[in-house]
Amino acid sequence: MAWPAEGTVKHEPFRLWRDGVTQGLLADFLECRQKCMYRMMGFEPAGETSKALVVGSAIHDALEKARRRLRPGAVLSDGEAEGIVSALEVVEAAEGRVTEHSAYAWTLAWALLQPYFQFYCVDDRKIEWVELEGEFCVEQDVFPYANFCFRGKFDGVFRSRGSKLWLLETKTRSIVDGEGLSESVGFNHQVMFYLNALKMMSGEMPGGVLYDVIKKPALRVKKSETLQEFGCRVRRDATENPDKYFFRFEVPVDAGAMAIYRLELRGLLEDFVLWYEEGCWPHYRRTAACLGKFGRCKYLRMCDTGSSDGYTRKKQFKYEELGG
Ligand code: SF4
Repeated sequence: MAWPAEGTVKHEPFRLWRDGVTQGLLADFLECRQKCMYRMMGFEPAGETSKALVVGSAIHDALEKARRRLRPGAVLSDGEAEGIVSALEVVEAAEGRVTEHSAYAWTLAWALLQPYFQFYCVDDRKIEWVELEGEFCVEQDVFPYANFCFRGKFDGVFRSRGSKLWLLETKTRSIVDGEGLSESVGFNHQVMFYLNALKMMSGEMPGGVLYDVIKKPALRVKKSETLQEFGCRVRRDATENPDKYFFRFEVPVDAGAMAIYRLELRGLLEDFVLWYEEGCWPHYRRTAACLGKFGRCKYLRMCDTGSSDGYTRKKQFKYEELGG
């Protein structure tokens, strides 16, 4: 399949010079080239199929909106938590993105939002925040043979004890493997991509990452209760036992790990740019990724049937992680 020439198609796909790359796009390329190509062509399923992803995004979106609205260290009132989640539900419905898991996901997001800010309000007041939920677009300096940007959004950036810059990275997990997160940080593509962008933008070597983990509840909806009653039960449990739900831990990163990451990233970009310039060919299927850690790949139906029925296509490629 040849990559469509500019201006020749109704749907304008990804353009490297215009859209740059995010860590998510490169992660898709590493995971399965077919998946990366579908994404670059702007295909989206009518509803997300993975429950874990729907829940994770709802919690992440609610936190993002609250962080944008509140002063760091503030607590959320009942009305604010409800208002934030309802506004996000309205947007989701207006954009036709409601899934079979949406109601459950928004219930959990609502249940955890207030206890999260309550738990961290004292710590967050002491942190010297540089920015929260800031988007970046920085001309890359890793692969010198092509001009394009690195793009993304920081959950948070702060200065630790008046010296180095640190990254706040929020994760939602069912099982928290803190040791694994610490041990893999030096070659964790997502975190190192952001730390490298932070280094490029600030000219300073960052200190590392503060993982901000939200553990999904072990509680399940009982047959005898409504979703709303379940949400109240989770909220009560998270308020009374915040240590079961919220964890933060620092993982430092040094200049040596950053230098090695940049070499690895250069190799990855070389592969990616060559593939893109060859018209995204070959876009072979990597079947080990069809049923991944977040459930089934959202393009499984398309790969199975060869048809795009049930998928929408964006008029112009936009990164969904940047609000596209
Ligand atoms: S279903 Fe499997 S082969 Fe198809 S795009 Fe997804 S991961 Fe790749």
